[in-house]
Amino acid sequence: MTRLDVDLVLVGGGGAASLVLAALDRHGVGGLRIAVVDPVRRRGQDRTWAFWGHPDTDLDPLLSASWHQVEVVTPARRRVLDLTPLRYAMLRSGPVYDRAAEAERRLDAIRIAAPADVVRDDGTGVVVRTGDGRAIRAGWALDSRPRPPARAGRTTWLQHFRGWWLEADRPVFDPRRAVLMDFRTPQPARGVSFGYVLPVSDRYALVEYTEFSPDLLTDAGYDAALADYRDLLGLDPGGLRVREVENGVIPMTDAPFPARPSPRVVRLGTAGGATRPSTGFTFSAMYRQADQVARALAAGRPPVPAPAYPARHRWMDAVALRALDSGGVGGPDFFDRLFDRNPAERVLRFLDGVTTPAEEIAIMNSTRLRPMIAATAGDAAQRLRDRLRPARPAPAIPAAVVGGPQRPVPDSEN
Ligand SMILES: Cc1cc2nc3c(=O)[nH]c(=O)nc-3n(C[C@H](O)[C@H](O)[C@H](O)COP(=O)(O)OP(=O)(O)OC[C@H]3O[C@@H](n4cnc5c(N)ncnc54)[C@H](O)[C@@H]3O)c2cc1C
Repeated sequence: MTRLDVDLVLVGGGGAASLVLAALDRHGVGGLRIAVVDPVRRRGQDRTWAFWGHPDTDLDPLLSASWHQVEVVTPARRRVLDLTPLRYAMLRSGPVYDRAAEAERRLDAIRIAAPADVVRDDGTGVVVRTGDGRAIRAGWALDSRPRPPARAGRTTWLQHFRGWWLEADRPVFDPRRAVLMDFRTPQPARGVSFGYVLPVSDRYALVEYTEFSPDLLTDAGYDAALADYRDLLGLDPGGLRVREVENGVIPMTDAPFPARPSPRVVRLGTAGGATRPSTGFTFSAMYRQADQVARALAAGRPPVPAPAYPARHRWMDAVALRALDSGGVGGPDFFDRLFDRNPAERVLRFLDGVTTPAEEIAIMNSTRLRPMIAATAGDAAQRLRDRLRPARPAPAIPAAVVGGPQRPVPDSEN
């Protein structure tokens, strides 16, 4: 068996690893021997990242669109939020993967196109064994292979969605604003649903239907929900073409995703807990952690980022998920109150896990007190019960429901 010796091995080369490679290049980390192990070389538009942040980062040239204003819509009202000094942005995966490939070349990284089967920390280094019989020994491993959490959570929801990239015959979208969440969609019996619109121009936009709930829909179910949302937006199907379809499933759970399973293995991305349990947003935490990893290596320190979110945020998310799951709090009401009673910028920084405790008290005060107290008590009681009984294994995160290649999209392709 051949063995390759490197300083750093990236196990998994998707979103989190791409951002690490770009950050290593950006911070001029030189002289490191790097390997990337992934059976797939990610290319093209397999997902669209929406996130908020300050403008003028290295990502700006890669963005498809950005907005200083977004709308949050409920059956009762349409709220226009000014995000300044932040902005909401849309980044398609293609430019990110291209940027990572360029960084990989400049860093002289070695690409191994095989699955990693074993990642073993022996105390002085990490050995990665691949499905095609290769072995890589590294000083450190950054592991972002998708995996279920270490044990079942108290609440296990999924964010699952389908989006259509719609091209219109005439101007029908307002490119000055994105729709962040539109809760006028019919709400599921258990869970929350909303639509959103990310316009790139007045004729081209990503329109999505999303649910936060325990179970996926069927292929036809997503199409029907999305067609209903398109109709709710008043878009004429006859004047639209579906250019691309995007599907996804993201975990929303208070189950643990250990970020440091052993001293020299660091987990990143969804597998490392970068997905915010209450929203499914992941990108900002991945970007932040990639920057921290690169800065640490540039300074000759171990590539260990700060936790994706503070422990108190994970606790607040556990309580919020529980309140939503029990039905004590309605999803549209929960998000509407958050945006009604706080500056949008504070809510967004809270969701990124970067608010102060005083701001968090203000956020907590904007939720309905009684169901939140009940959820807090229920969460505490279940934590206690969990300590007394053996941990239950977590269910696997299901794959997204993808329609067949010949699947006609209702009404809109003609
Ligand atoms: C369609 C979609 C849209 C999303 N949109 C948003 C959004 O708008 N905003 C947001 O914040 N988050 C979003 N997310 C969530 C999150 O940002 C993404 O899932 C992100 O890609 C997670 O990065 P990752 O590196 O953890 O996982 P991935 O990007 O999935 O990368 C994991 C990599 O591991 C590789 N791998 C698998 N098995 C092995 C193995 N055995 N050995 C080696 N490699 C392996 C895979 O091939 C893959 O390349 C979205 C997710 C999806 C699916």
